[in-house]
Amino acid sequence: LRAVKYPRPRESKRGPVESLGFCRKFFEMKAFESSFLCVLLCAGFAQAGESRMTNNIVKSDAEWRKELTPEQYRVLRQKGTEPAFCGTFWNHHEKGVYVCAACGAELFRSDEKFDSGTGWPSYTTPVEGAVTNVVDRSHGMVRTEVLCARCGSHLGHVFDDGPPPTGLRYCINSVSLEFRKAEK
Ligand code: FE
Repeated sequence: LRAVKYPRPRESKRGPVESLGFCRKFFEMKAFESSFLCVLLCAGFAQAGESRMTNNIVKSDAEWRKELTPEQYRVLRQKGTEPAFCGTFWNHHEKGVYVCAACGAELFRSDEKFDSGTGWPSYTTPVEGAVTNVVDRSHGMVRTEVLCARCGSHLGHVFDDGPPPTGLRYCINSVSLEFRKAEK
């Protein structure tokens, strides 16, 4: 008897079962990758939220009163204003960074400081994200109050009569600030 050689049906390189396995692997991989990406994103958002929460400083009025000098407390926590030409920094020209006197957050760089002639330290722009603005309708005026973004302390006001490039004048109380000299 001669063995009859039937022509084998044309097959793809991968058999149907093998192809299914590959597809399953592909989808599993995609699902795995998606899950991994989701976990990464969730972790990222959670961490960002957490760091924002831990960065924000919330203290009771009694704690602030205990930690700050009476003048700092009056300006920073009770939205007071120091007299013009009397503060530490209106005529201060060293290189460095001005930080919040209440929480130490970096607020303004000396490079953005200018002589406004007002008697208060003035800056064209704050450190990115360091301050928040709120509408202040006190004293029969509508002004934009500037707060420390981290601890919510009152810093001063911002006006739109500043020099280029921003055209803004951040008019800040010296008593709300401390100065950190730049390292040489
Ligand atoms: Fe602060």
